[in-house]
Amino acid sequence: MTEIEQSYHKKLNELRVKCPSFDPERGSCRSSKCVCSSIAECMSYHSSILPHGNVGVEISAFDGHVNGSRTVENHNVTIAISKMMDYCFGNSKVSTSLNRYELHKMSQMDTRFSNGTNLIIYGESSARTQTKLGKTMLASVVLKEAIWRRMFKTNKAYTYLFKSCPEVVDDTISKRIENHQVNPFTADWMCIDDIFLKTRQTQGSVLDQIMSVRLRENLPSVLIIQFDPFKIPSPEESVGNHIMKMLSDKANTFVISLG
Ligand SMILES: [Zn+2]
Repeated sequence: MTEIEQSYHKKLNELRVKCPSFDPERGSCRSSKCVCSSIAECMSYHSSILPHGNVGVEISAFDGHVNGSRTVENHNVTIAISKMMDYCFGNSKVSTSLNRYELHKMSQMDTRFSNGTNLIIYGESSARTQTKLGKTMLASVVLKEAIWRRMFKTNKAYTYLFKSCPEVVDDTISKRIENHQVNPFTADWMCIDDIFLKTRQTQGSVLDQIMSVRLRENLPSVLIIQFDPFKIPSPEESVGNHIMKMLSDKANTFVISLG
């Protein structure tokens, strides 16, 4: 049994204990409307895809504080949340405290997938003070919303990847990705986290290879850039030409700056 299957069965058992239509003798739920198994499936994908520590995150937890100290100004928090809500739910004024049922009804993630609409979150976190802005957390919220769509017939996305940029670059150069079932070129949804400033051009050229395929195939990408590309000379060496163009044109791309 794969890790994801194990976690699926564990979640399913937990949900069934609370499900009013669960029949212990048959070992399954009686109602055809029961969603235990599709919720368990989504939750097992959440825990296998998202970075550790981000599985339980919700947008309502994003308030510009990390470990108790403020890292993003209130004004920028408000802008970031409204862009996130617009990307995920098609309305920047959606309350972050709506329940799951209401959020599912409003979700725009099927449309974002079919249009291949991208999301870029950037902002300089100081490596020296280890200041975190919550970018990975926001990206996790988006991938979580994408995975929840598995519950619905309108969903057409089934594979996901959430990886750090150095890992993606290594896997691509070493051709290790050829052995991976889900890779950055083909994953229906992909998040590349930790795109740092690099002086060697390898990173920019790998990101260009990946993005040229994904843009051509209309696959949505979530990209986390750990610096402000508009404040440095030759940012394309670090992020590649495609991502620079997406940042400046904002064509089919939502851009969130957490300065
Ligand atoms: Zn059930």
